[in-house]
Amino acid sequence: MTQVLRALLRAATAGALLWAACAAVAMPAQAPPATHGAADFSARIAEIEHQGDARPREAAHALEQLLPLTAPFSPERLELLTVRGLLLAFASDTEAADRVAQTLSEWVRSPAGAAAGSAALLVRARALAQRGNLQKADALMSEAMQRLPPDPAPRTRLRYLLAQAGIKGDAGKLEDALRLFHEALQLADRIGDAWRRSEVRSGLAYFYYEAKQIDRAVALNAEAMQIAQQAQDHAALGRAHNTETFLRGELGDREGERRAMEAAIDSARRAGAKSDEALYLANLADFYLKSGQYKTALALSEQALPLVRELKDVNGEIVALANIGLAHISMKNIPLGKRFVNEAIEIDERRGAIPSVVSSLLELAQYLERAGDLAGAVDAYHRYRRLHDEIFQRDQQKAIVEMQERFDAERRTRQLELLQRENTLKSEQLRRGDLRQRLWWLLAATFVLSLVVLTMLYRRMRNSNRALESSNVQLLAQSERDPLTGLANRRHFQAAMQQLAADGKLAGTVFLIDIDHFKRINDTHGHAAGDAVLIEMARRLRETLREQDLIVRWGGEEFLVVVRTLSPEQVEALANRMLSAMAGAPVRHEGDSIHVTGSIGFATFPIEPMMLPVSWERAINLVDTAMYLAKAHGRNRAYGVRLLQARNEATLDDITRSLESAWRDGQVTLTLLQGPSATSEVAA
Ligand code: GH3
Ligand code: MG
Ligand code: MG
Repeated sequence: MTQVLRALLRAATAGALLWAACAAVAMPAQAPPATHGAADFSARIAEIEHQGDARPREAAHALEQLLPLTAPFSPERLELLTVRGLLLAFASDTEAADRVAQTLSEWVRSPAGAAAGSAALLVRARALAQRGNLQKADALMSEAMQRLPPDPAPRTRLRYLLAQAGIKGDAGKLEDALRLFHEALQLADRIGDAWRRSEVRSGLAYFYYEAKQIDRAVALNAEAMQIAQQAQDHAALGRAHNTETFLRGELGDREGERRAMEAAIDSARRAGAKSDEALYLANLADFYLKSGQYKTALALSEQALPLVRELKDVNGEIVALANIGLAHISMKNIPLGKRFVNEAIEIDERRGAIPSVVSSLLELAQYLERAGDLAGAVDAYHRYRRLHDEIFQRDQQKAIVEMQERFDAERRTRQLELLQRENTLKSEQLRRGDLRQRLWWLLAATFVLSLVVLTMLYRRMRNSNRALESSNVQLLAQSERDPLTGLANRRHFQAAMQQLAADGKLAGTVFLIDIDHFKRINDTHGHAAGDAVLIEMARRLRETLREQDLIVRWGGEEFLVVVRTLSPEQVEALANRMLSAMAGAPVRHEGDSIHVTGSIGFATFPIEPMMLPVSWERAINLVDTAMYLAKAHGRNRAYGVRLLQARNEATLDDITRSLESAWRDGQVTLTLLQGPSATSEVAA
């Protein structure tokens, strides 16, 4: 029963601070006279509160009777309801306590609304602590403290401090509990109520014991006991003795422990504190069971049972029944003992207190085993094991489910993270791919574009090269061609001469042709007719000569022809053909019919018989002189230098200067050719 008892004791110790050790519970039913005032009424409430320390249900009922004497929403009614709520919670009538809290919370619109709201929280917190919901109780209590209006009455503040200290201590927040108890201690000393001064000390001593500060606990508890004894306050003395049992047990003083328990029972009985008495009896029965004094244990438990039943204290009833049963079993009244224990277990099962059932079954099994009922022990162990496993499995399943959920959550988180990372990676890859693609497109576009540009440039270059080439050709052609007749000009002739006569000496037959009286044609028919005649003469000469023969427009109306070396007969024939070509059909121009003749001088180089090599300038000079002689002798004729006696160029130059006299002297032989008969109009 130890586990259950310890839990019960702790709850009782915290709550017990409201207990009073008033031996005579006289409940004054009549209201205080109106002249007594508020202070007297508050003192009256405190007195009933003190009585409630031992008999909380009766005290709560007494306060209810006083309610009609208080004005709605008055400070008196607020204090009355607060104390009543706390007493109901302490008496484990938590539903009634909650109803009081509800009433207080409905004061919200009244002038005392704030204080009542705080008090409602205080009562609710105490009720929750009584039900074992310490965490929520702690939270509500903190809120109650915060909302407590400043400068409350000392007793009001003390009620709050003790409630919070008890809840903190039971919740294991020992430091907070000790601090609050110390504040409560000072306040209680100032107020001066002995029962309060004693119970704050025994309560503080209990939590010092919990905090393993035994010396302090012992000293404080001694003070508590002294105060309670002086005031003859039995409920308070009972509390001090109860704390003493823990301290003696801690110090290994078994006899002292037992005596303290008995003293506690005695004090509670004197105080009329029945739930205290039942609790202390259960404690003592447990003590005797453990030390093998079963008869005494049984007797004590049998005393406790009617008490707890009267108090409707279910916890106490279970403890008493179980202890009776275990005592019987230990005394070999096994079937009877089993019935009692099972009765306790059934109550626990009905109210769903499975952990309590489990610990009861284990104790039953141990006691049956010790008593020699091995079959019964095995059965109890089986029940214990099954239920334990069920709880364990439920807990384990819960733990597994929680773990699974946590694991799943973590896995989901991880998966999500991975997915996210993957997505980031993918979009990065896509982006990169996109960039790469764009780059390729750009490169391709650039390539195509530059190809187009290059092609265009190339084409343009090629075209311009071609144009240049053709223009060069044209330029060349133009520079070496006579624009009017299309024949080679003097520049071309000089270039050709450098090729034909690499050594500067000419080899071939040279003709120099000059149109007769051309000035007269211009004058008679116009300059354009003159041009037409020039064009026609050039055409006729080209026609007469061969492709490879060189025809040059030498001057205004003069043509130079160079052909490869021909025999004298061939040369004469060619000269005749040229004379005939020029003097053939008259040139038609704008209705005019123009008769044209020409005069020719010619020679073949080197000149026979000496075969003196002659430069082309000297050669042309000689031919020009022969042509001039033909003009002088009547035009429309050709004079050729057939033989010329000159061994050197100087002699040649002399002969050229006086060709006619040299011809007459026989130094030169000339061929004289007459052109076709001149027409009447030109002959003039
Ligand atoms: P000759 O029989 O003695 O050769 O007399 P000619 O009038 O032919 O000789 P001249 O040298 O006195 O006259 C040549 C004329 O030819 C002078 C010039 O005006 C003309 N002439 C020169 N070149 C051209 C040309 O390209 N076109 C035209 N229409 N006349 C030109
Ligand atoms: Mg001329
Ligand atoms: Mg002329």
